[in-house]
Amino acid sequence: MTDRMPEFPPSMHRGAFLAEAAPDDEIPLEGMAPQDARLLIEEELLLDSEPERNLATFVTTWMGPDVRALIAENLHRNFIDHAEYPQTAEIEQRCIRMLANLFNAPDETTGARTQGSSEAIMLGALAMKWKWRQRREAEKKGAEKPNLIFGGDVHVVWEKFCRYFDVEPRIVPLQEDKLVIGPEDVEQHLDEHTIGVAAVVGTTFTGHADDVVGINKLLVETKEKHGWDIPLHVDGASGAFVWPFLHPDSEWDFRLEQVRSINASGHKFGLVFPGIGWLIFRDKDCLPEDLVFYEDYLGKRDATFTLNFSTGSAMVLAQYYNFIRFGRSGYEYLMKVMQTNRDALAERVMAIGEFEELGSGEQLPLVAWRLKGDHPYDEFDLASQLAAVRGWMVPAYHLPPNAQDVKLMRALVKLTLPYALAEKLGDDLAEACEVLAKKGGMHESERKKVHTSTSY
Ligand SMILES: *Cc1c(COP(=O)(O)O)cnc(C)c1O
Repeated sequence: MTDRMPEFPPSMHRGAFLAEAAPDDEIPLEGMAPQDARLLIEEELLLDSEPERNLATFVTTWMGPDVRALIAENLHRNFIDHAEYPQTAEIEQRCIRMLANLFNAPDETTGARTQGSSEAIMLGALAMKWKWRQRREAEKKGAEKPNLIFGGDVHVVWEKFCRYFDVEPRIVPLQEDKLVIGPEDVEQHLDEHTIGVAAVVGTTFTGHADDVVGINKLLVETKEKHGWDIPLHVDGASGAFVWPFLHPDSEWDFRLEQVRSINASGHKFGLVFPGIGWLIFRDKDCLPEDLVFYEDYLGKRDATFTLNFSTGSAMVLAQYYNFIRFGRSGYEYLMKVMQTNRDALAERVMAIGEFEELGSGEQLPLVAWRLKGDHPYDEFDLASQLAAVRGWMVPAYHLPPNAQDVKLMRALVKLTLPYALAEKLGDDLAEACEVLAKKGGMHESERKKVHTSTSY
């Protein structure tokens, strides 16, 4: 060794971590062997739940070995370096065109790859705010106090947008017997300061859709009556990848005149690992030019419309892989498998006799149910019991206002819950009811951490 080199740290002997606390407040002075670092982390992760048994999440928890290899081989490719990686940028554009086509866009369109639906919604809502301001300025009217209308069945990101970007949220509260919104709820909130209306296709609470057809009709009539051209944004985080395959005749997308933008989470039913989302505009005119940043970066002129900058390319490539690997017929088949297993689980759960399903109509592949009648136990006890017995992660939660008194449980039925496991879950739920009925409910001290978040 030459003396130009610094001294090699004496940290490469193995196994010290076995008898020590994990470093948790400062970067340790000495490192450890790579195998040790990996083992330390892997052992801790075993305390987390197994993602494939997570029936609370909409997000993809399984992908096949070929696409995992593709992902692993492209972790070092920064997506935003369009000048260096023009083919990656081209593949992003192909995905945008494919989705615009899937959503029945009438003309040449534009869109963006995002980190998920949250970023897509922020960008889509910003576009609505900018377009509204342009309309107001063209009419020589003031552009103060913009508002945005949506139901209590939306994801938290919509309220976040309103707070971060200074827009008044006009939220239609849910009711115990009405878990989605329609034109009758929206109409009273519309005025000339409304930048847009957001409708959900596939809510996180019960998997149903707002009445997009009805709201579109209302907005068309409003345009004729008042001259306000109010755009409709469809939050299809989950549904935009499900409806085209399970409910192709149901209109929720650009077939409807006022639908100007749609977001979809590639990492939900697009069947890609997190984080990838998509924002698709109806046409190029829906994206205000001054939200796009042009810059000369590394020698080339580049256009970006994002909140983030550097990020991986792997999930964009994985999305494209899924599109060409499955094709439309493959996606349709996979969605139908999930739906069939959903039906089987729903039937099994209803056969127990203690439950009722929530909501009605076209739905994501999930079952949402609640207890009916009087019981010495509740949905949260059942969730704890299922977790204790076999590690099932089935969330129990309350609905948002004004349906907050409704407690329910929900299980996603994705490809990681095949028929055999769906049956097993139904059996375990039946047994949980019996055990809890005998015990007279669950004691506070027995309650394990129950997954109560419904938002992902
Ligand atoms: C998941 C979800 C979001 C947020 O999406 P991310 O991709 O997690 O950012 C927004 N809206 C709905 C309806 C969702 O289901």
